[in-house]
Amino acid sequence: MSLAELAGCLEERFGERSKHDVPLGRLTTYRIGGPAALYLEPGTRSDLEAVARCLQSAGEGVPVITLGRGSNLVISDKGWPGLVLRLAPRAFSFTRPGDGPDSLVAGAATPLPVVANWTTRRGLSGLEFMIAIPGSIGGAVRMNAGAHGSETSDTLATATVLDLSSGELTERKAPELELSYRHSNLTEQEVVLDATFELVPQTENEVRARLESFRKHRGETQPPAVQNAGSTFKNPAGDHAGRLVEAAGLKGFRVGGVEVSRLHANFFVSDETATAQDVYDLVHEVARRVKEDFGIELEPEVKFAGEFEDRSHT
Ligand SMILES: Cc1cc2nc3c(=O)[nH]c(=O)nc-3n(C[C@H](O)[C@H](O)[C@H](O)COP(=O)(O)OP(=O)(O)OC[C@H]3O[C@@H](n4cnc5c(N)ncnc54)[C@H](O)[C@@H]3O)c2cc1C
Repeated sequence: MSLAELAGCLEERFGERSKHDVPLGRLTTYRIGGPAALYLEPGTRSDLEAVARCLQSAGEGVPVITLGRGSNLVISDKGWPGLVLRLAPRAFSFTRPGDGPDSLVAGAATPLPVVANWTTRRGLSGLEFMIAIPGSIGGAVRMNAGAHGSETSDTLATATVLDLSSGELTERKAPELELSYRHSNLTEQEVVLDATFELVPQTENEVRARLESFRKHRGETQPPAVQNAGSTFKNPAGDHAGRLVEAAGLKGFRVGGVEVSRLHANFFVSDETATAQDVYDLVHEVARRVKEDFGIELEPEVKFAGEFEDRSHT
């Protein structure tokens, strides 16, 4: 069971669409990190079912990750040692009315601001918080993305999920996903294909006013969506990670090419010299200092993918 066997199976099914050594940095908001050993953009459900069959027969033990818009991910400088799947936007980026009068079905590759604008134009409330989050619907379901007091779980009704370990396609009701603060029970083997939301009808003006106020607030309080992955740490109960990082005197604190934003202390912003290891080291050093100063353990919200060196004990 090896990477080579998996590559062979994928090549047989997908020909040149199955790629090797594809740089991933450009597919993430941090713009850093190495290549994917194997890379494929599935364009249909049956493509994904074929990937599942290859994984079952040839790739057991090969790590798989689904990449959305890469806005919550730090990919290792060494890259990803297995298969990266990125749902082809032409097939998986769409918005359409659902069965109910106030419902929306969105493909997993749909950018969140597209969804916020679609619902706003129809006077449907619940997803306007997505206007300034540079992720996709698949990433938002997996992470239970949220902002301004709302989160994905508030309006999510169902998600269509393909389990790569069995090839099984299921429609999961939102409670089955055990969504909580920036968490779901989805594993790396489970790919979200689309999601259905039940929204609240209001006037377009009401929804738009909220959307615009969220957009304005973002522009004033956070760095733009490049060279960072949004909030680095989850907020601990009853507090804000950014407040703690700032109170520890770490605004502007830097490791290599990455620094704690001076605008918002929970955003860590990279420059063109940054490595993924720099992000990893900064995250661990900031967490260590906050623990030392306040006794509070900060948990990263950003996900590290691939191999990193733990230098905290050296
Ligand atoms: C400037 C900025 C602001 C941000 N603000 C917020 C905010 O206010 N609130 C918030 O919650 N987040 C915020 N984020 C973080 C991020 O945008 C969200 O977590 C978003 O939901 C991630 O979506 P993505 O498509 O980029 O996922 P990725 O970063 O590509 O992946 C994140 C995780 O989701 C998984 N995943 C992606 N697609 C799928 C799929 N189709 N099926 C199954 N799993 C999948 C990945 O495997 C990975 O585990 C911000 C990020 C930035 C850069």
